[in-house]
Amino acid sequence: MRTKIMDVYDLLKAGDRFAFYVHAQGHSANHESRRLMYGWMDKWLKPMEATATRLVNLRIKPHHFLDIIADFGAGSRSFKPHAYGHAVHTVAERLLANRNIEIELVLGIDDICRPCKHHVGDTCDDTIDTSFRPEAPPSKEEWNKRIDRRWFERLGLKEGDRMTASEFCRIVREKMGGIYEIYREIPRQMTADRERNLLKGIAFYLNEPAGALGPLTASAACSRAGSATPSFS
Ligand code: SF4
Repeated sequence: MRTKIMDVYDLLKAGDRFAFYVHAQGHSANHESRRLMYGWMDKWLKPMEATATRLVNLRIKPHHFLDIIADFGAGSRSFKPHAYGHAVHTVAERLLANRNIEIELVLGIDDICRPCKHHVGDTCDDTIDTSFRPEAPPSKEEWNKRIDRRWFERLGLKEGDRMTASEFCRIVREKMGGIYEIYREIPRQMTADRERNLLKGIAFYLNEPAGALGPLTASAACSRAGSATPSFS
């Protein structure tokens, strides 16, 4: 089938516009396939000016992205691999290396989760510490979706929306308002620290003076110790 289709493209002198990818994962549109498909569609079906920098490079949950930005705000500039094996450290490095990296917002498993030992099937099988948030669901999958749905609603965005990382930061700052309601199960003081770090992290990410490095906050110290403020839950 591949060669017959190629013949048609060659006949039309468009052989360079055909590609064939075998992912060997049955009847599915897996992550790699979707990236290639979106890239192909962007390249050939959209006007040049709309797509020049629009290839999706990172699929990420809103709260994962914002946790990294908040950690930037708390002074973190380098991240170590986590025992879970997730990709927070490499994603943070990619966000630092290219502030116009194209992201796609997702609700389920994202590029941080993909190599994590708790990524089982198409979900997260981990649980959260409910000792300081007794009204939160124990399932991390449920908790994350609850928080991300609230972020989507607050920001007027939805799953599948695409933009650059800097554009997302600007939208967040414009529309976030007070975030206590988004994290309503968590003690207010922890959310106050999160909000302050988030705003500072956005300023840092957008290369604004307010984002200059200052002393680390209690929140950052706690999250790195894996205690009070669970950054990547
Ligand atoms: S949400 Fe679950 S699968 Fe994703 S990084 Fe966290 S623990 Fe791992």
